[in-house]
Amino acid sequence: MSDVNRRRFLGALSATVLGGMGMARAVLGDPLQTPKARAAPAAPRPPGGKVVPAPLPPQPAPIVRVPLPGGGVLTKLPGDGNLLALTVDDGVNTDVVRLYTEFARDTGVRLTYFVNGVYRSWTENVALLRPLVESGQIQLGNHTWSHPNLTKMPASRVAQEISRNDDFLKRTFGVAARPYFRPPYGRHNATVDAVAADLGYTAITLWSGSLSDSTVITEDYIVQMAGKYFTGQAIVLGHLNHPPVTHVYGQLCDLIRARNLRTVTLNDVFLA
Ligand SMILES: [Zn+2]
Repeated sequence: MSDVNRRRFLGALSATVLGGMGMARAVLGDPLQTPKARAAPAAPRPPGGKVVPAPLPPQPAPIVRVPLPGGGVLTKLPGDGNLLALTVDDGVNTDVVRLYTEFARDTGVRLTYFVNGVYRSWTENVALLRPLVESGQIQLGNHTWSHPNLTKMPASRVAQEISRNDDFLKRTFGVAARPYFRPPYGRHNATVDAVAADLGYTAITLWSGSLSDSTVITEDYIVQMAGKYFTGQAIVLGHLNHPPVTHVYGQLCDLIRARNLRTVTLNDVFLA
């Protein structure tokens, strides 16, 4: 067996084992106990290597893009269908940004990153990220420079937070993140919206479901949240902050495949 095939075989094996255990837990019922109690055993890993999930099936049919709804807040994708916008935020941890980006590269999953330029993960991973950003497989959106609660500050500081990050993304990746803006914590008001719109950020992008991983939670819980929220036309929120999600890529792919979902960036769906 080639090295790649062996890793894929081990990946499939670990996904099956963990998937089965997840089901047993669900049947027994496991309400919100302490996160440690829900920790899944580590997946078997080839020594010194990582588990690479198998690529997602190709999606040759073009997506018919639709105009962005004017002046509104996006919480899901319009219409009925099988599109899934997985949007992942912040970038606190350099390894997590690297592993998420390698996950995209290895499987073809399409992602939107809502970046805080203050984290060094973005410059440290620029060589890995750039080709995926340039091909459009990973889209970059604006999540402010340093992740403050914008509803607690004057309009001038809101503008600084958005502009500084906009400049950073242009300079570092050569892309315009406009018009997609995600206010930190989802907190926004009429002032924030007006300042953002003034800077070209007319699409306040929230979400329909979350992997709940802005803080450290267990791998099991992340898979449970994916099971709940990976549905057609969903915008799902995740985070580039903590390692547990990087251990369940195989299970996330299994769900996407089993539900016949097609991952998309926001640019895949909307004519801005
Ligand atoms: Zn955030």
